Amino acid sequence: VKQQGRNGWHFFSASLEEKVRKKLSISNGLRLAMERDELSVRFQPIVDTLSTRIVGAEMLLRWHPAEGPVSPALFIPIAEMTGSIVPIGSWVFAQACQAEADWRSRWGELAPAYISVNISARQLNEKNLLSEIKAIIKTHACDPARILLEITETAVMADIDTNLRVLRSLADLGFRVAIDDFGTGYSSLAQLTKLPVDVLKIDKAFIDGIEHHPESRAVVKAVIGLGRAVGVKMIAEGVENPEQLLELRNFGCDFVQGYLFYRPLEKHQFIEAVEQSFKN
Ligand code: C2E
Ligand code: CA
Ligand code: CA
Ligand code: CA
Repeated sequence: VKQQGRNGWHFFSASLEEKVRKKLSISNGLRLAMERDELSVRFQPIVDTLSTRIVGAEMLLRWHPAEGPVSPALFIPIAEMTGSIVPIGSWVFAQACQAEADWRSRWGELAPAYISVNISARQLNEKNLLSEIKAIIKTHACDPARILLEITETAVMADIDTNLRVLRSLADLGFRVAIDDFGTGYSSLAQLTKLPVDVLKIDKAFIDGIEHHPESRAVVKAVIGLGRAVGVKMIAEGVENPEQLLELRNFGCDFVQGYLFYRPLEKHQFIEAVEQSFKN
């Protein structure tokens, strides 16, 4: 028999209903987001740990429906659940290819080395992913070697066999591959070395507090050591203060990304930041 406490059960069911309604309205809204022109992308610079020059950027999706912007942390999981992430992800990917070609024509040899784009498991499972990606790179005359595909460790490990095959095909096309949110998914070193991985991104959760806690410091140091041992580049994300940067420098982390340097920027702000960074 359920609890009939006036507050308890009643309050709970109301807030649950509220949550379901909100999710429904987000999933309906997302279906129309593209045609309503409500999506945009930001560019968060990634910098070289030692020189602090901009070496790349992560492309981050933004959604601003009429009712006001919705956080990616809220709408991305819903888009993944409903499948909307597939067309939206293709749109983001096309934006990345366009940006890559644009940077190269703008800055030539000086252009940041890569642009990072998040790819969800749902996209990897699409059977026409490869043909679609080929078409997009052709349209934008994009150099895949300058595109870094970020796939979360959890997504890769959820179906390692399929994903390994798809990632190999993407790597064969010349794309770079990054394991995102590394450290949160319990992959083994053996599994890791089977993947065509160029970059590991250490999740912000591991960076938080490294300046205060010796145990967190030891973990990050070990992870960076592991990355170096298997010959991949390391990016630390969510770097917010100079003390964290100092530790990461000592550990030999290649690149950092975080509010200490830049927030996700609009395209024109990113262009200014890169040109400013040439003077460093
Ligand atoms: P993520 O891939 O781990 O992206 C990094 C997130 O950390 C971004 O949040 C970024 O704004 C934030 N961040 C960067 N530096 C700092 C810092 O110093 N401090 C703090 N507190 N946060 C920092 P954002 O833009 O809200 O994106 C959240 C997540 O949404 C992303 O996490 C990614 O999983 C997903 N996402 C964003 N854009 C896309 C996309 O185009 N496709 C897919 N599939 N997922 C996306
Ligand atoms: Ca990412
Ligand atoms: Ca990440
Ligand atoms: Ca993260």
